[in-house]
Amino acid sequence: MAAYDSNNIFAKILRGEIPCDKLFENEHALAFSDINPQAPAHALVIPKGSYVDAADFAAGATAAEVAGLFAAVGATVAKLGLAEGGWRLIANCGSNAHQEVPHLHFHIVGGRDLGAMLPK
Ligand code: AMP
Repeated sequence: MAAYDSNNIFAKILRGEIPCDKLFENEHALAFSDINPQAPAHALVIPKGSYVDAADFAAGATAAEVAGLFAAVGATVAKLGLAEGGWRLIANCGSNAHQEVPHLHFHIVGGRDLGAMLPK
């Protein structure tokens, strides 16, 4: 895993240098709409701390940061009204998963039948 790059686009959103369509925020996490939605509902939830991916977060995050990130996931799902129909939580980590932005982000997608988890 590469070192954290503080010039990644989500770091710029967190610093307020780039706008986002904010859906939810707490002390440790921010949720906003994906700029290129892959489903009728497509949000991103990111920790405010500098973590490259989920393994980096697991190794370095405090209990409060972990709780804050998952609280933001739950609040975003509720705000988007996805609980009843179902939704998917995705974290792409590293090159095999085609992670484009090297700051941990959970995709929340829903609003339609999402099909199988992975293409065969
Ligand atoms: P991943 O491939 O998991 O790294 O996904 C990165 C996601 O970030 C993609 O779904 C992009 O559409 C999204 N994205 C990139 N730039 C922005 C931005 N400025 N605001 C919101 N979403 C973005």
